[in-house]
Amino acid sequence: MAIIFICCIKSGYFIGAYKKRFDLCFFGYSYIIYTYLLILNVSNYRNFKWASWAKIKKENSITHNMRMIAKFLLRLILFFSILLFFDSGSFSQVQNDINDIDSGLIQSHLNKIFIPQFKFQALKALCHYPELKNTKIVFKFKKIKTTLACRPKLISIFLRKEKRTYLILINNDSSKLKNAILPLIPEAIQIGVIGHEMGHIIDYHDKGFFRIMATGIGYFFTGYKSRLEKKVDRITIEHGLKQEIIAYSNYIINTSNAPLKYKNYKRKIYYLPEDLEKL
Ligand SMILES: [Zn+2]
Repeated sequence: MAIIFICCIKSGYFIGAYKKRFDLCFFGYSYIIYTYLLILNVSNYRNFKWASWAKIKKENSITHNMRMIAKFLLRLILFFSILLFFDSGSFSQVQNDINDIDSGLIQSHLNKIFIPQFKFQALKALCHYPELKNTKIVFKFKKIKTTLACRPKLISIFLRKEKRTYLILINNDSSKLKNAILPLIPEAIQIGVIGHEMGHIIDYHDKGFFRIMATGIGYFFTGYKSRLEKKVDRITIEHGLKQEIIAYSNYIINTSNAPLKYKNYKRKIYYLPEDLEKL
């Protein structure tokens, strides 16, 4: 049995180590250990049922209760493992070296996963945010409603601020936003919008679990969303990206061929270029 158990642990490790990801390791471990425990129960398979607190309360036998609690915990582990797995994003992106960026700058941001196409622009924006040096950031493509979006990784909201990982989601689907998607925006302007997303990270950094949850809920309300986006624009300007963020706002509202609905949404929620000039 011990040999089987060790084999299970090893298999779990290899599932996770496949992409050099700790949380996938965790997924692999818990999945394989769960399978192992299921095998232990195989002789009693017909009686194997998912535990629930109601059942745990009903049963009188301590041993039986312990088994039910163990099953309940395993169920929780499995749930969070699956959550982690689907939240993990695309991690197979290869990092390219960029010759015209200071190698010291690249070295100080090894805790970030870039999309090669936007690595230069992201590093340029990061120059304005020295406080994000130790922050883990993952850039990934995702079909979203806006040009870019930023949020903490789901598991991160349970962690201490310095342990969190943030996702910067990049829309690369031009079917709706036309040339208002990042790959079709001029490079100087790309730095502005990436810098704005980093402003969101600064805003998240100041928030604990409950305030992050409140931000998530508040985002469904126009007034809250507008106050937050304007605050983030001010953070971006405080970090020296005023001209870039004005250029971005100008581009989306006045130059791009984005749908009128998106332009109106930008006008309603964000500062207009002329408002940004005054800040
Ligand atoms: Zn924003």
